[in-house]
Amino acid sequence: DISVITFFRKRQRMKTLIEVKHVKKIYRMGVEKILALDDISLKIKKGEILCLVGTSGSGKSTFLNMVAGLEKPTRGEIYIGGIPIHQLNEEKITLFRQKNIGFIFQSFHLLPMLTALENVSIPLVFRGVEKKKREQIGKAMLEAVGLFGYEKRKPSQMSGGQQQRVGIARALAGDPKIIFADEPTGNLDSATSREVMTLMTKMVREK
Ligand code: ADP
Ligand code: MG
Repeated sequence: DISVITFFRKRQRMKTLIEVKHVKKIYRMGVEKILALDDISLKIKKGEILCLVGTSGSGKSTFLNMVAGLEKPTRGEIYIGGIPIHQLNEEKITLFRQKNIGFIFQSFHLLPMLTALENVSIPLVFRGVEKKKREQIGKAMLEAVGLFGYEKRKPSQMSGGQQQRVGIARALAGDPKIIFADEPTGNLDSATSREVMTLMTKMVREK
């Protein structure tokens, strides 16, 4: 049982950006079958901010991974901007993700050897942006999430909240059409969670 809560929606009529039709996901573990998603259909419009709410194990991550093109549904169809992403092969879906999707993870998933600036710039490397420009955008993104002056810090030299700000900056750096966040505040205390949520929704609304 997953509920969808609308956090923000534009006043004017917007186009449907994501359409999920009768998606089913069955995981096989030996002879056991786990029905993780059973016939999910949903439309998401451009400019919406939605929350998926449900108990642990209800299929939220499975759903997000499917819509973000990280996993394939067992049955059903997923369209993003009219493109049938359930039909794309590995190579095409990777390109599609790099171009259109930003992902924010619960455990931040920053690369420990890289600085904050380098972590934020990663999506731009995939997009073929040259180094000078990457640094310029990366710095602006860090500043936008309140981390001016933290460019050279490694993840281990930052608090959880600061690391997730880097995660947000990275997700937004490539100017994606869609941001997915899987329990982005799950590893943060409640005050920092509120800050991070406010920052995320503010950045998304501005863009
Ligand atoms: P949530 O994110 O809401 O906590 P998940 O999407 O992670 O839930 O899991 C949904 C169900 O699918 C759970 O029963 C979980 O155990 C199962 N599941 C998730 N991933 C796998 C997998 N790779 N193999 C087998 N079962 C899985
Ligand atoms: Mg989950």
